[in-house]
Amino acid sequence: MKVQRTRSQEKVLKLLKTINREISAQDLYLELRTSKQSMGLATVYRSLEALKMGGAIQVRTLSNGESLYSPIQKDQHHLTCLDCGCSIPIDCCPVRELENQLQQSHQFKMYYHTLEFFGLCEKCQSQDNLEI
Ligand SMILES: [Zn+2]
Ligand SMILES: [Zn+2]
Repeated sequence: MKVQRTRSQEKVLKLLKTINREISAQDLYLELRTSKQSMGLATVYRSLEALKMGGAIQVRTLSNGESLYSPIQKDQHHLTCLDCGCSIPIDCCPVRELENQLQQSHQFKMYYHTLEFFGLCEKCQSQDNLEI
């Protein structure tokens, strides 16, 4: 199904892709203003909502209730080190098969999934050992 996007939605999507990181609606609104593409905050929210429902962007809600938006990435997962914060991309998706199964068994149209791994990288593990 091809969705017709409004001009505001196109602008928002384009900016999200340019920024290429997660951003809140509030910050996006400010970014639009500095790039002289000003639009009302309500329009920003409406556009984000429409893009989300159209499967063009993904949203992640933080524990403080703030929502962060980003364009849907290709199926890529990372190992994130809790100490130094480095993230190591892994080159396979362990849940792709599951996604297909769920899609069929639940008649659910899947847009994306997220999967993150947390722990200590090799470097940080050896630093810990030195301290002991
Ligand atoms: Zn580390
Ligand atoms: Zn995946």
